[in-house]
Amino acid sequence: MNPLPAKTPVTVAFGDGIGPEIMNATLALLEAAGARVAPEPIEIGEKLYRGGVSSGIGDDAWASLRRTKVFLKAPVTTPSGGGYKSLNVTVRKTLGLYANVRPCSAYHPFVDTLHPKMDMVIVRENEEDLYAGIEHRQTDEVFQCLKLITRPGCERVIRYAFDYARAHGRRKVSCMTKDNIMKMTDGLFHKVFDEVAAEYPGLATEHHIVDIGAARLATRPERFDVIVTPNLYGDILSDIAAELSGSVGLAGSANIGQQVAMFEAIHGSAPDIAGRGIGNPSGLLLSAVMMLVHIGQGAVATRLHNAWLRTLEDGLTTADFHGPRSGTPLSTMAFADAVAKRLGRRPEQLRAVDYAEAAPWTPPPLPERRAAAVKQAVGVDVFVHDGVSTPERLAARLHQAAALVDHGPWKLAMITNRGVKVWPGGFPETFCTDHWRCRFVGRDALGHERAILPMEIVTLLQRLTEAGIDVIKTENLCTFDGQAGYALGQGQ
Ligand code: NAD
Repeated sequence: MNPLPAKTPVTVAFGDGIGPEIMNATLALLEAAGARVAPEPIEIGEKLYRGGVSSGIGDDAWASLRRTKVFLKAPVTTPSGGGYKSLNVTVRKTLGLYANVRPCSAYHPFVDTLHPKMDMVIVRENEEDLYAGIEHRQTDEVFQCLKLITRPGCERVIRYAFDYARAHGRRKVSCMTKDNIMKMTDGLFHKVFDEVAAEYPGLATEHHIVDIGAARLATRPERFDVIVTPNLYGDILSDIAAELSGSVGLAGSANIGQQVAMFEAIHGSAPDIAGRGIGNPSGLLLSAVMMLVHIGQGAVATRLHNAWLRTLEDGLTTADFHGPRSGTPLSTMAFADAVAKRLGRRPEQLRAVDYAEAAPWTPPPLPERRAAAVKQAVGVDVFVHDGVSTPERLAARLHQAAALVDHGPWKLAMITNRGVKVWPGGFPETFCTDHWRCRFVGRDALGHERAILPMEIVTLLQRLTEAGIDVIKTENLCTFDGQAGYALGQGQ
């Protein structure tokens, strides 16, 4: 007789609010369905926050996560008042969980929705973009948040989306960016999408500018299958999609990293109903189904998911969501019992799932670092805080300070304010703040543009600063293999 396959250790956090109630129900169902998992409980959330651990997660929990590499997490409460860091952001960033995966399906006619046919998955980049948390106040009037998009970051999440689509029998992958405006950052995401798409000829692909894409998602969500998108757009789109499906309380999610993956419902700890045993365990249960697929237990995932769909069809629900066919609301545990009783049965009207009993998900190798490009500095954007000058006056000050008047080594190419060119040839109608971008490019004796040395930038900055110009930051202008690595003109 073959020995039973070993159980997969899974780190389990019971969380706060309704967390323990829905986690107990989920674990009971995992056991009833025959999941080969060995839960390893950890303490996170409110108790730790109140005990002075500002991240809400302690050393023992980290050790467990790094050992098991699989995390089933109930929601936690972030105490109100300052000083507490978001546990989710901490876990996501510390463990490099780069892809956030959210299936959003309608369960018509058992859950009310305007879009009965919607069945999509949003794969959101999870670590980069405006969420890098690099923000500065630069002047009296201007605050800045840096948007970082990296090639390896794009490659990993986009490849994950295509692999997910292929593994789950999906047909189309849609990319959403705003690369008509952010040509370099979002342009990179779109470019990498096209590159990766070429490796998956069996899948249809498309790109939408995110504004029109979001409008189409809101009006005709059934036309989408898998969507992959940078962090901020994904954050917004995935909430819209969950809301449209009519089943925010039913949605699960996965956060996938190179080594560790975390699975959790999309709702919070519902403190308003905690302790009453009426919370809906479905979001966490569907997250656990995603976990089972991830760790290679597709058959158990199929049994559990289909039993849950059948429970919905039979009109059995908790109090929070009522479809037209719902009966008396069940408690958390009674709902879990109803699902357990249906193990082995499939839905009759809703589409049954069939997850392959595949090997556990293994991450693709890290994207290979490409050969470094030939990089050449050709200028510098100097950002200046000046609340009194007009564009002409500022240009005159800069010319004087940088000794540009007598054909010096620099040419002041333009000044912009909030991305709009205001010198030379600005319009008096343009509203200016106290934040100016002054573009200097290298110039040779004949007045031609030329490459520059880093030390020349230091000298330029020294001159400007000595002349009392308030330089708040600089961005080097470089070419990479001869191509400009900076936006050429003014913003739109
Ligand atoms: P929430 O999702 O907890 O609750 C919103 C509403 O939905 C409440 O009326 C609640 O009773 C109901 N609800 C949510 N999940 C339910 C379920 N499974 N069954 C029945 N009803 C359910 O959002 P909130 O009130 O904004 O946040 C409460 C706490 O949860 C906050 O401390 C917040 O920081 C935290 N939170 C945690 C996570 C997480 O751990 N991933 C996510 C979101 C919010």
